Amino acid sequence: APAVTEYLHAEGVSKQFGAVKALSELSLELRPGEIHGLIGPNGSGKTTVLNVLTGYYPIDAGRIRVGGTDVSALSVQRRVQAGVARTFQKPRILPTLSVLDNVLLGAWRDAAAAMLPTMFATPSARRRESSLSIRARELLAGVGMAHAADERADALEHGEQRFVEIARALASRPRFVLLDEPAGGLSNNEIESLGEVLQAMKAAGIGVMLVEHHTDFVFRLCDRVTAIDFGRFITCGTPQAVRCHPEVIRVYLGA
Ligand code: ADP
Repeated sequence: APAVTEYLHAEGVSKQFGAVKALSELSLELRPGEIHGLIGPNGSGKTTVLNVLTGYYPIDAGRIRVGGTDVSALSVQRRVQAGVARTFQKPRILPTLSVLDNVLLGAWRDAAAAMLPTMFATPSARRRESSLSIRARELLAGVGMAHAADERADALEHGEQRFVEIARALASRPRFVLLDEPAGGLSNNEIESLGEVLQAMKAAGIGVMLVEHHTDFVFRLCDRVTAIDFGRFITCGTPQAVRCHPEVIRVYLGA
């Protein structure tokens, strides 16, 4: 098992929007090489968890750690550098750029290193630039989108944009990838492919957090599941244990 010092941790995190307590002293951990589901009813705080883990929202209390490092005060970009990448409920692609360039944007850190010498047009810089493109094409191939590399991103359908966004997240060489409703709006075939992509990420040692309404998909795919309600932790465990938890049954069946 990976060492505790390698986990992505939320520790006693609270987040309030005006009078709304979106998260109340919530703790959870994401381990490398696991697929971890985050479930809860609408408005229970799932997206807020992703937003505080990735630095889109500051927290009011508690802390976020990546391994031994407290990243609570770090910007989104600094957390990407620390290994935390994400996708959004509605894919955020740059519509007029090519699919390949959208993926390359995820590699901005490597690209910045390659660009500086490019200004002096050294052969080694050109080689590095092309190796970035090769890697971006490999990532697209990994999500089944190699054929679309040179198309404009807005020519793709919703489900295809979803896969491109995952490739872009992977381009940052993340240790953790947090996905917000990735199965939303996908066809059954695309959901199958998504499952394979997530398994491949897990096999590569990435910790995958999956916020998903599609509970069948979550319970089938995840190693562990955390359930929350009203921004509070309910339980965390294997899919079997979580789906039988009385509080989870009560929340979902309203019993
Ligand atoms: P979920 O993803 O589980 O549906 P959210 O994290 O989106 O839940 O929302 C949790 C609570 O926080 C809801 O009451 C929601 O209205 C509120 N909330 C989330 N984001 C904001 C925001 N940016 N401004 C104000 N309230 C927000």
